[in-house]
Amino acid sequence: MGRPARIVAATTFLVALMCLCIVLIDGTQIVKARTTQLREGEIITVNLSRSLAQHAQDTVKAADTALVGLAERLPQLTRMPAQAIERTEAMRLDATLAAYVRELPQLRVLMVFDTTGVCVLHSLGPAGARQAGPISDLLAFHRASRDPGPHLGPVHSFGATAPASATLSRRLAHADGSFAGIVLAAIDLSYFQKFYATFDLGRTGSIVLTDRDSRLLLREPPGGLPIGRDMRDGSMKNSPPSSTRGNTVTIISSIDGSERIVTYRQVAAYPLHVAVALSKDEVLAPWIADARLHAIGLTILVAFLGMLGWRLTKQIKIRVDTEADLLKTRDELQQVNRVLEVMALQDSLTGLPNRRRFDATLESEFKRALRHRSMLALLIIDVDCFKQFNDIYGHPAGDDCLQQIARVIQECRRRPGDLVARHGGEEFAVLLPATELTGALAVAEQIRAAVYALQIRHNGHDAGVVTISIGVEAMSPVHHANTVLQLLRHADQALYAAKSSGRNCIRAHLSVTIAEMA
Ligand code: GH3
Ligand code: MG
Ligand code: MG
Repeated sequence: MGRPARIVAATTFLVALMCLCIVLIDGTQIVKARTTQLREGEIITVNLSRSLAQHAQDTVKAADTALVGLAERLPQLTRMPAQAIERTEAMRLDATLAAYVRELPQLRVLMVFDTTGVCVLHSLGPAGARQAGPISDLLAFHRASRDPGPHLGPVHSFGATAPASATLSRRLAHADGSFAGIVLAAIDLSYFQKFYATFDLGRTGSIVLTDRDSRLLLREPPGGLPIGRDMRDGSMKNSPPSSTRGNTVTIISSIDGSERIVTYRQVAAYPLHVAVALSKDEVLAPWIADARLHAIGLTILVAFLGMLGWRLTKQIKIRVDTEADLLKTRDELQQVNRVLEVMALQDSLTGLPNRRRFDATLESEFKRALRHRSMLALLIIDVDCFKQFNDIYGHPAGDDCLQQIARVIQECRRRPGDLVARHGGEEFAVLLPATELTGALAVAEQIRAAVYALQIRHNGHDAGVVTISIGVEAMSPVHHANTVLQLLRHADQALYAAKSSGRNCIRAHLSVTIAEMA
């Protein structure tokens, strides 16, 4: 994978990682919020069930207290025959019972029955009938049980049109403990209903009050369930046993099939059970709305980040590609420059350094010789009678001849610092740094001999083959305070001297000078 691809992949990965982190963090928050919301729903059912259990207990307890008070005042009366009571105290006692009932809104009616089930006293007032419907089961219960405590009996309607009431009764006993009748309080279930109706439990929340056998006493909202229905047949079938500490579970409602959070709690002192149910959907409704908003926000954020990442990746790709293109172009330019540089300093025919390169090197070597107080030698080589060669053999053959001579001169180069260049036309120059005249003459002779040895046929030349003439100069710039031009001129003069001497020979400037002096 190339660098651009790696950068793009890394950027894409980082953006994707960022999006994933945001989704994970927010997703975790959403899941946590759901758990919290459910927990809050549970807390509501737990707290409400506790309050309602306490309320049920207080309600029944108040009724029971009335029963206890009544029972204490009745022993002598209940030993009387019913007619006797009626004649003497009945009216007054009825009024007392009615007063109790007025005091306690949960009480529908208070009644006293003798051992035969005849109602001897009641709170129904003068118009109230002294019949109370079938209470034989209660009589039978208290006759059989010697427990003087309260007994919550079955639901009963006192009167044809009267609403259902829960019965709370206590046993009346003679001094010897034998059965003397019962006192009975009818606890108005609508009292609970009204109270339960004051709670907002949502559309499908409910409160259920059941007796010891899980039979329905009331439900708010009623939901069409008949009083006395065994709740263990329905949604409470698989629920844990109710306790005074409360048990909270999630169940599927047998009424509408929805999921509910329910807390079952037993009333501490009486065989009553309260169940508070909230719809799970309704409990989660605020969370769902919140989660939906979050999800929308999150989607927008991730989409935005994704788009930014995509644009960023695109920009980076463009930049990296441009950078790579620029680098490639720069490399190509450098390559072209190098070629141009070489071409600018090289002679195209012979491949030797050209006049420009020679001039630059001569300048720098001259300065170096000046600094190091060393000698600098120069050979100027000229092909003899080359015009005739061209005339006889043609220009291409002349070119070929020049290439051969150039190769031979190049081969005679010994030191890396020596420079062989094409000086122009059929002229070549050899620059020999740190070389005395003797050494330069030796090199010149070597070159001359090598060219002669090529034995290139030349009918226009007395020698019969191609030859060269060489002018040599060696000087120490520091001693002579000379210039580059002088060096060139001296070498040139020496070359002319060689030409004048019949060609195919070497002349040094010194010998030229001596000759001139002579
Ligand atoms: P001399 O011995 O006195 O040097 O005589 P010459 O004929 O060599 O000298 P001249 O200066 O009269 O002629 C030089 C010739 O070299 C003229 C020119 O055509 C030829 N020449 C110069 N450069 C080239 C080249 O690149 N290729 C060819 N084929 N000929 C060249
Ligand atoms: Mg010439
Ligand atoms: Mg010549």
